[in-house]
Amino acid sequence: MSEGKKPGFNTLAIHAGAQPDPTTGARATPIYQTTSFVFDDVDHAASLFGLQAFGNIYTRITNPTTAVLEERMAALEGGTAALAVASGHAAQLIALHALMRPGDEIVAANKLYGGSINQFTHSFKSFGWEVKWVDADDPAAFAAAVTDKTRAIFCESIANPGGVITDIAAIAKVAKNANVPLIVDNTMATPYLIRPFEHGADIVVHSATKFLGGHGNSIAGVIVDGGSFDWAGDARYPMLSAPRAEYQSMVLAETFGNFAFAIACRVLGLRDLGPALSPMNAFLVLTGIETLALRMQRHCDNAQKVAEYLAGHPKVSWVSYPGLASDRYHALHQTYCPKGAGAVFTFGLAGGYDAGVSLVSKLKLFSHLANIGDTRSLVIHPASTTHRQLSDEQKVAAGAGPDVVRLSVGIEDVEDIIADLEQGLA
Ligand SMILES: *Cc1c(COP(=O)(O)O)cnc(C)c1O
Repeated sequence: MSEGKKPGFNTLAIHAGAQPDPTTGARATPIYQTTSFVFDDVDHAASLFGLQAFGNIYTRITNPTTAVLEERMAALEGGTAALAVASGHAAQLIALHALMRPGDEIVAANKLYGGSINQFTHSFKSFGWEVKWVDADDPAAFAAAVTDKTRAIFCESIANPGGVITDIAAIAKVAKNANVPLIVDNTMATPYLIRPFEHGADIVVHSATKFLGGHGNSIAGVIVDGGSFDWAGDARYPMLSAPRAEYQSMVLAETFGNFAFAIACRVLGLRDLGPALSPMNAFLVLTGIETLALRMQRHCDNAQKVAEYLAGHPKVSWVSYPGLASDRYHALHQTYCPKGAGAVFTFGLAGGYDAGVSLVSKLKLFSHLANIGDTRSLVIHPASTTHRQLSDEQKVAAGAGPDVVRLSVGIEDVEDIIADLEQGLA
C-alpha cells in the first residue's frame, strides 16, 4: 500500500496486517499451528517475558496467524490495537476483567444478545461485578444509573434481537461526562456498517462468530482498543495504572500509552484467564473478513427486500426493521448506518404461537437454528426455543412474545428467500 492516501475499507479488509510469508513466500496467511516459539538466546527470552520486546512465546498469549487478524480488525475499526480471543463471550469477559474489581459496577443497555444477558446477570454477578440495566433507547437513563462505582458503560451498536439502532454518540457523551469508558458490542453491524470509535466509543468488542467470519464455521471474538481513554494515574483502574510486580513494577498505562488497554487484556487477561483463539479459527475468520463488505451489503440489501415483502403480507402483523420508512429507528439508521440496517430482525405473525411453530417447520431454504450472521438464511421462533423457560410476560418484555419470529437473512438469491417465506406462510 502506497504512502499518502489512506487505503479504503475493502483494501484494508484484504491486506491489513498481512504480507507474503518471509520464509516460504506463501501469499495467504499461513496457519501457524504451534503452541510455542523458539527463543534466539537467553537474553531474548528474558526481554520477551519482561515485556521489553514484542515477540511470540506461547500461543495462549500471541500467535502470528492470530496477530494478522488482530491488526486487520484494529485497521477496520480505526483503533490502536486489537486482541483476538476464543469467542465473543471471552471478548466481553477479558475486556471487563481489565476494568473491574469486586463491588464495581457496569451500566448496561437492556437490549443485549441473550447470552450476554445471562453472562452479565449470573457469572459476572458471581465475580462481585454489579450490573445496572437501563433502557437502551434512553441516554438519560444511562446518566441516571452512573455512580462513583461505575467502571464502564456497555451497549450494542445494532442491538438484539435486531432492528434496534443505538444512539452511540448520545451514550458516549454520558460516558465522557462520567469519565468512564464506553464499550460497544459491534457484532451485528460490523465496521462495514458502523465504526463506533467515530461516534465516541472507547472500546469495541465483537463476536467474530457472526458476520466477520460470516460462514457459520468458527467461534471467535475480538477486542479493539480505541486508544481514547486516559488510564494513567487513575486509581479506579489499577490493572492499567498501578505498578505490576511481575513486570518489574511496570505501569502499563505509562509504558504502552494509547494501546495500554489492549496490552492489559493480553498480558493479564488472556495470560491468566486463558481463552485463546486457535490459529485455525483465526485463519477462517481472516478469510471471511476479506469479503466482509461484499457480504454485508448483500445481507442488508436482501434483508431490506425481505422486510418490505413481509410488511405487505396479510398474515404478518408487524415488522421491526429500521430500513422501513415507518420504523421508529429509521432516522437513527440513516444517521449511523446509511448503507444498510443489518440483516437480523423480527416480525410478528397474526396467527400467534401456532403460526410461528408452523412457519419454522415449513421453511426449507431457511435453517432453523440459534445463530446469526451466516451466509445461509436462518430462522428461529424464540417463544418455542431460546425463550421457552420464561413466563408469557417475560417473553413479551424480552421481545420474544408468542407471535415473534427472528430472521438472519443470508446472501442467497433474494427471490429464493422470499419464495421460501411465501410457501411457509401459505
Ligand atoms: C453471538 C453474540 C455474542 C457472543 O458471542 P460468541 O462468539 O457466541 O461467544 C455476543 N454479542 C452478540 C451481539 C452476539 O450476537
